[in-house]
Order: sequence, then C-alpha cells, then structure tokens
Amino acid sequence: MGKFNRRGFLKSGLMGVAGVVTLNSGIAAGSPSKKEKKIIYRTLGKTGLKIPVISMGVMSANNPSLVKAAIDKGITFFDTANSYQNGKNEEMLGEVFKDYPRDSFIIATKVEPNGVDLKTGMPSDATTGEDFLEKFNTSLKRLRMDHVDILYMHEALSPEMVNFKPIVKVMQKLKKEGKTRFIGVSTHNLPKVIDAMVDAGIWDVVLTTYNFLNTELIRKNSEPPVKGMEIAIKKASDAGLGVVAMKVLAGGGFLDKERTKPINTTAAIKWALSNPGVHTTIPGMTNFDQLDLNIRILEDIALNDMEKKDLALAQSEAGLYCTACNNCVPNCKRNLPIPKIMRAYMYAYGYANNELAHTLLTGIATGDNPCQSCDTCSTACSKNFNLKEKITDISRLVNVPADFIVT
Ligand code: SF4
Ligand code: SF4
Repeated sequence: MGKFNRRGFLKSGLMGVAGVVTLNSGIAAGSPSKKEKKIIYRTLGKTGLKIPVISMGVMSANNPSLVKAAIDKGITFFDTANSYQNGKNEEMLGEVFKDYPRDSFIIATKVEPNGVDLKTGMPSDATTGEDFLEKFNTSLKRLRMDHVDILYMHEALSPEMVNFKPIVKVMQKLKKEGKTRFIGVSTHNLPKVIDAMVDAGIWDVVLTTYNFLNTELIRKNSEPPVKGMEIAIKKASDAGLGVVAMKVLAGGGFLDKERTKPINTTAAIKWALSNPGVHTTIPGMTNFDQLDLNIRILEDIALNDMEKKDLALAQSEAGLYCTACNNCVPNCKRNLPIPKIMRAYMYAYGYANNELAHTLLTGIATGDNPCQSCDTCSTACSKNFNLKEKITDISRLVNVPADFIVT
C-alpha cells in the first residue's frame, strides 16, 4: 500500500473517472436494452426476493426522471426513509411509482424510533410503538402505497433496540397485516446489533454499513481483532437474513473535504459485492452519470488490478468516513454523539448534501459549538481525525436556517 504515492493515487483515481466517461458515452450512444443485459442478481435471504446487486439509495435524489431512468436500466430495489428530505424523498417516490405496477419494484423505507439515547443506544419513555406506527402510516401516505416491501427500524444503536418489544410488536403486526412484506433493522457498523438480530430469529433483512475502509479499521481496532463485520455478515446470511450494504462508497466518493481526491466508486461497490454474504448494495445516486457508472457494475462485479490499486491507495488515507467504532465516545467530556456528528461532516463534505447534514445535526441538538468549553480535547479518534476541529467546523451549520440550504 505504501508504495503508491499521492500523485500516483490522484493519477490513478482520475484515470478511473476518465475511463468511466468513455464507457458512459458508450452506454448513452446505444446501450443494450434491459432485456439484453446479463444483470447479476442475488437472492435477498429468506425473503426470496431476487434483486440486482446494485440497488438505488434514493436518500439524496430529488429528480423523478433519475428514478425512472434507473427503473429503465434494470434497477428494481429503491431505498428511502421517513426522515429523508423531511418526507419529500418518499413523496417523490410516490409520484414516480404511481405509474408502475406495484409488483414491478421493491421499496424499502425506514422509521427511526424517538427518544433513543444516542450514547447508550437505549430506549427511553419517549420511545413508543405508537409514535413509530404514526410515522410509518405517514410514510405510506407519502409513498401512495398500501404496503412497502421492507420496513426497517432505522438505526438501531444497541442490541436492546433490536429486542425492544413495543416497537418490535408493532412491526410484526404490520407484517401480519400486509402493510410491510418484510421487517428489518438498519445499523451503522455494529456487529453486536446484527448478532442480536440473528439471535432474535424474527428479522428478515439487515441494512448495514459495509465498505473497504470500515472493515480494515474494524480488523485493527476490534477486540478480539478478528471479530468484525465479515463475521457478522456471514452469520446473518447463513441464518437466512437478507443483507443490504450501505455506505459502500466510504464517504460519498471523495477522500477530502475539498473534493479533490475521488474514490474509485466502481471499485468500492465491487469490493462490497466481493463478499457473497452481501446481497445488494444501495449506493446513493443523484445524477445520470452516477447511474450509468453503477449500471455497468450490474454486469461485472470482478475487481480488476487497477481497481484494487485504487482501493489500496484510498485505504492509506484517513478520508471523510467515520467508522462509528465508538472508541472516542467514552472519553468525550460532553458525552457528544461523535459518530453522528462525524456522519454529518461526511454528508456535508463527502456527499455535498448540506440538507442531510443539517437535519442530522439539528436532530441531535448538540448546538452550534459543542466543543467550546474544552480547552483541550480529552478523547481521540482511531482514525486520527482532529475531532475538536471537525466538530467545531460542521456544527456551524445549525445556525443556517433550513430554508437557506441548497443541496
Ligand atoms: S473537544 Fe469536543 S470532542 Fe473533545 S472532549 Fe471536548 S466536547 Fe468532546
Ligand atoms: S470519530 Fe473516530 S473514534 Fe470516533 S467513532 Fe468515528 S472513527 Fe471511531
């Protein structure tokens, strides 16, 4: 890894982008139709759903034509959430899918329970099934559907949430009533949450962060060191859970705040798919170039030598991606939910999605300068991020009124 210098990385990364442009031009000029393509499918565990290895993370998309183009190119599975774009994301999908037969697409949405302690991941008195149900019914209305295919509990931070009866019962009832075909949990880099899902035996699908940066660091930092996402994913897929990988680009496509060092996103997605326990990926797509780039992977998931080199070089950089390892949290004087703040940092600088970063920061309510009272930072990041600097930088965003934010 050390033998590649920064110049080499940039050259290699830019060559990757240039290659993509050429190939995209080929697609635009006369790509084979959906039927002629040899799309690679995997089965989403015991759900039995056969889905292409690339699905669409709709989170930051706001163009209905892009979703329609994705459908036309063979993508069948679309991932949204109750909270994305304050509901506009689900509304946009509802507007698109009203014109398609209900059995021609698969839709997943997520509902985040209220009142969960961001540090411990434990529910509070404000964490209720009623609130969860109300949010889900709102999602159905926005989507203009009588059911979704997968309903996730959004962002379980602890095994206790996986087994939190008031919400689990509501989700099981919704499944019984046919308002969701399958139930799942989304989690950021928490093998213990996936383990708890397998042990509970009631879940159908796990949506988890999984990428080439995240796994490297887990291997180094976890105790015992071999325990990590690979083991959790294997356990889940062996138990019949469908496994959907998110954050596969490890930071939105760039390694630096200035967006001068692109990640080879094709290589990143292929890397996630090199694990046979991963059934599909949901890279975020916001424009037609990204869509066309990702569509090529539908037919070829083998990493070539150049892509492997690009990933090795990217692994040597700290990047923008916080692995959510939580190592920094116990020693923070203010008990800040640092992984969430760092995720907002990644959304703003890696994804260029200030709206999402703003929503996340205002939701956790840590204020516009949470490190202000610390002369020196009492904690440290496993990736050597300068936490005080980054937290201070991104927290300024809460002072910007939501109406002023354009993404
Ligand atoms: S500087 Fe910020 S991150 Fe560091 S200990 Fe203080 S509040 Fe926590
Ligand atoms: S900021 Fe660093 S130590 Fe803290 S959760 Fe993220 S990667 Fe881990």
